[in-house]
Amino acid sequence: MNLVLFGPPGAGKGTQSKILQEKRGLPQLSTGDMLRAAVAAGSALGKQVEAILAKGDLVSDEIVIKIIAERYDRPDCAKGAVFDGFPRTIPQAEALDAMLAERKRKIDLVIELKVDESILLARVEQRIRSGQSRTDDNPESLKKRLAVYNRDTAPLLDYYRRQGKLTTVDGMAPVEAVTAAIAAAIEAKLGAKA
Ligand code: AMP
Repeated sequence: MNLVLFGPPGAGKGTQSKILQEKRGLPQLSTGDMLRAAVAAGSALGKQVEAILAKGDLVSDEIVIKIIAERYDRPDCAKGAVFDGFPRTIPQAEALDAMLAERKRKIDLVIELKVDESILLARVEQRIRSGQSRTDDNPESLKKRLAVYNRDTAPLLDYYRRQGKLTTVDGMAPVEAVTAAIAAAIEAKLGAKA
């Protein structure tokens, strides 16, 4: 099964992807994590994207499509994956559909974690207080990331709604309740297939 976890920065995509990875054995494919790892390693890619991440802009579609295809072809994705933070633009979504089609696969379900913007800022502030913040966790960058989300990424909701793949979950509920709602959406999808 191939899932996309969708939502604005701070919606809980990373938390829920990790839970899905543990419970269902579907690897979490987070382009944000991959790019941060490249920055930390000081690789050529890392040097190319470092300033873009710090500002809260999107790196090019070409770069993320390439790293996601390379990652998806590793053997642990044989049964599918959870895409976290990818796709973020319509061309990325189209490229993902094409990449999966070439491999006789498809996106089964897109789960939107819906969260009010006021709560997102509070969550990122919490991440800073708890010492788990990232270099792009500051109010300036968050504002930029939210604006980019609304402009470039939110249109994907319609893209997936039209394909009949979109399920929306209340991302403001406690973590366990969000996990349960996601599990119910997956079970409903699996049931519909059988
Ligand atoms: P995230 O951890 O998903 O919030 O991503 C952190 C940062 O990495 C974003 O603000 C972007 O600069 C970059 N990034 C992550 N995923 C993508 C993507 N799919 N397309 C473009 N840029 C991305």
